[in-house]
Amino acid sequence: MKVGFIGVGNMGGPMCRNIIRNTNHEVVVFDLSADAIKACTDLGASSATSVADVAARCDVVITSLPIPRVVEDVALGAGGIAEAAKPGTVFIDLSTNSPATAKRVADGMRAKGIAMLEAPVSGGTSRATDGTIVIMVGGDTAVFEQQLPLLRSFSGEVIHLGEIGFGSTAKLINNMLAFCNSAAAAEALMIGKRSGIDLAKLDTVIRNASGMSTGYANMAKKTLAGDFAPTFALDLAHKDLRLALELADELGVPGLIAPQVMSLMRMARGMGLGPSDSCAMMRVYETALGEDVRS
Ligand code: NAD
Repeated sequence: MKVGFIGVGNMGGPMCRNIIRNTNHEVVVFDLSADAIKACTDLGASSATSVADVAARCDVVITSLPIPRVVEDVALGAGGIAEAAKPGTVFIDLSTNSPATAKRVADGMRAKGIAMLEAPVSGGTSRATDGTIVIMVGGDTAVFEQQLPLLRSFSGEVIHLGEIGFGSTAKLINNMLAFCNSAAAAEALMIGKRSGIDLAKLDTVIRNASGMSTGYANMAKKTLAGDFAPTFALDLAHKDLRLALELADELGVPGLIAPQVMSLMRMARGMGLGPSDSCAMMRVYETALGEDVRS
């Protein structure tokens, strides 16, 4: 089978390379970054000249793109997948979108005879790299079962949540929770710093106690090392939380906690930290209080 992969950045890159390593499929890649393409062609993928070139050549087209607008453009815009792909092609989007975007894109694809699975992922670059990423899928059951071996080739857990929209819903709820944990971790670590406690020992306590979460672990690792180079950009985290808040609003769920985290993200972005890692939310506390939290 020919598998196309569009968007081989921080997440798409390692997932694409796992497909190359773990299957016999012929993989065709396209990205706006030549370096990102090279990291995949070095492993045996071939490169395409455009989105349309990938779509025309492949049986399955996968995308991992930054924001909903880009996904819609690549999927349904001029020179996009729907225009160039053969009827019968399957489109799998691994990006984080709103359920409404996923449904709109799926409708546009269906009109061209292309089936779509929305398949957002969780686990960050480390689990994208070691092949244990979690994939949450929305879409037709028969298409899901047909594509399960491909999805399993680069993941640890694949969960089918039902029709299109439920994959994105699960992802947004998960990320809202992760960012709330992460922001609370930033505040907790600053309290630790100001108390004078040994931060490395505090970290060991939390990792073995009830305050532990993935959000805490990421925040502590990056903060204590002072390394906010992006593995998950704050700009993308802000996009996810904005989509989660919109969903909460649509469903009439009052926001008491997540909107506070949104304000923290807005302050960090206002400080020019959007391209830094999402854990750079910590810099708001550090800048306001005039001290860094490092071990
Ligand atoms: P990224 O910016 O590292 O990668 C996106 C890639 O898409 C880049 O290489 C970029 O050049 C390429 N691209 C952008 N527009 C394009 C276009 N029109 N045509 C072709 N290529 C194009 O972002 P990422 O961190 O890999 O995130 C990708 C998606 O995965 C996002 O939706 C994000 O929310 C989601 N996600 C990220 C993480 C993470 O930890 N980084 C975790 C889970 C989900």
